[in-house]
Amino acid sequence: MTTGKINVSVENIFPLIKKFLYSDHEIFLRELVSNATDATLKLKHLTSIGEAKVEYGNPIIEVKIDKDAKKIHIIDQGLGMTAEEVEKYINQVAFSGAEEFLEKYKDSAKDSGIIGHFGLGFYSAFMVAEKVEIITKSHKDEPAAHWTCDGSPEFTLVASDKTDRGTEIILHIAEDSLEFLEEGKIRELLIKYNKFMPVPIKFGTRTEKVTTGEGDDATEETITVDNIINNPNPAWTKQPSDLNDADYKNFYRELYPMQFEEPLFNIHLNVDYPFNLTGILYFPKMSADLQIQKDKIQLYQNQVFVTDNVEGIVPEFLTMLKGVIDSPDIPLNVSRSYLQADGNVKKISNYITRKVADKLKSLFTENREDFEQKWNDIKIVLEYGMLSEPKFYEKAGAFVLYPSVDGKYYTLDELKEALKDKQTDKDDKLVVLYASNKDVQHSYIESAKEKGYEVLLLDSPIVSHLIQKLEADNEKLTFTRVDSDHIDNLIKKEDNPISKLSEDEQNNLKTVLEEIVPKTSYTVQLEAMDSKAAPFMITQPEFMRRMKEMSQSGGGG
Ligand code: ADP
Ligand code: MG
Repeated sequence: MTTGKINVSVENIFPLIKKFLYSDHEIFLRELVSNATDATLKLKHLTSIGEAKVEYGNPIIEVKIDKDAKKIHIIDQGLGMTAEEVEKYINQVAFSGAEEFLEKYKDSAKDSGIIGHFGLGFYSAFMVAEKVEIITKSHKDEPAAHWTCDGSPEFTLVASDKTDRGTEIILHIAEDSLEFLEEGKIRELLIKYNKFMPVPIKFGTRTEKVTTGEGDDATEETITVDNIINNPNPAWTKQPSDLNDADYKNFYRELYPMQFEEPLFNIHLNVDYPFNLTGILYFPKMSADLQIQKDKIQLYQNQVFVTDNVEGIVPEFLTMLKGVIDSPDIPLNVSRSYLQADGNVKKISNYITRKVADKLKSLFTENREDFEQKWNDIKIVLEYGMLSEPKFYEKAGAFVLYPSVDGKYYTLDELKEALKDKQTDKDDKLVVLYASNKDVQHSYIESAKEKGYEVLLLDSPIVSHLIQKLEADNEKLTFTRVDSDHIDNLIKKEDNPISKLSEDEQNNLKTVLEEIVPKTSYTVQLEAMDSKAAPFMITQPEFMRRMKEMSQSGGGG
């Protein structure tokens, strides 16, 4: 037997990192700004515990493009590195200084928001750059260092005359990545990934009008200020008790600047055990607005945007919501199928389901009228949730509503109570009469109402599946659409059928109607019809209609 050590040659690793580590080349900027943020947060922590003897001040990060020289600069005022530290942190691929820092300051720094993880982020710079320089001055009293590398495993490290604390990364953009020298492209990336990062990020300058002096002496002046592209303190990082309704609405606008519809309500997520997660979810108005499809829930890790594909993390029925989720505990470097099997992720998904159900319940109990008004906009999400998430279904009884055609809203329990004396069939089952379209089924609705029956309006596209589920779980409940033949078979029959037509007229009409109406799927009833609403009624066997519905919607629920 032979044992040995697999020999990994760096020459082979670089091209691999460049090609396969990240599928999106654009994330180099996210990684480098994350490192600049980490360097700043580390300094903040070290000054707060007295380990760094410098003034923390108000550090910012600056991103600059030098189009002529084909360079991008990322400059921070963080803790910097000594030459020795450059050797340790930069020259060792896959050694994470961020993890080391968190390990060293375990107790005090666990909430510091440090982003880095795998010790690979820095090398993503080589996806777009043919040469990278680091010029860095540590907060410690040591000379600055200048590191240069052209993507081969050779580097140079010399002293530098940089005097101010912090690090400047210079990317010499490769010919195949010149798009990243466009101001518009970089702004787009900063807004996509860094919009809510915790350290201010400057990208160019902008002008601002200010008024100085007072009264007649007041003069308006145009001044040039730093163009800060991010909001370092987004709403979800704050305590719910520090936010009011307007704050939540403003944040919605900040998240989706192109969305002018106001959200219906929000749910603030905030948990730190057994996993860490913060966020704000919004119930949007379910209008036909296409924008709604485009604005998705955004996933962040320590305020860095990761993705808006939350599949597998948020239960499917809630992916129609908007908002943000921020969690350092979601393993995002793994495949989606693995994600779904991950214990933490399952817990996160269950937590979100529970929070949403709790919020709905409290909205319902605190202001039922308001909740009823919103019902039409939220019902699809809730009904879909009942069908797809058993945990949600369990809680749904407390707030899911069944509206009548006349705008009355029942919970399931209230509905049972209301029907118990007037709508039962021969097996003593409660018969829930419902319409799926108020206009089309108008005369059936009127006729049922005249008989004193309560008719619900259940018009969402998945309602037939929901009915099946409710019938399966409520032995004593049966649903019947107003235009089905069951309405008369099941419900206590009226004593005198009222038709004002003579027997002859009735027969003639029946003959005519039966010629036009396909006999196999409909029944013509003249005698059962109430004269006021319509002279006759065509009904369809309930089971046939359901069969048809099922086959149209691609099989049973
Ligand atoms: P990670 O961030 O996961 O630790 P990276 O490859 O992104 O890994 O960075 C490696 C290490 O290099 C960091 O942990 C940090 O110690 C050091 N580093 C990178 N960029 C900076 C910077 N701007 N200022 C100070 N140190 C930095
Ligand atoms: Mg990093």
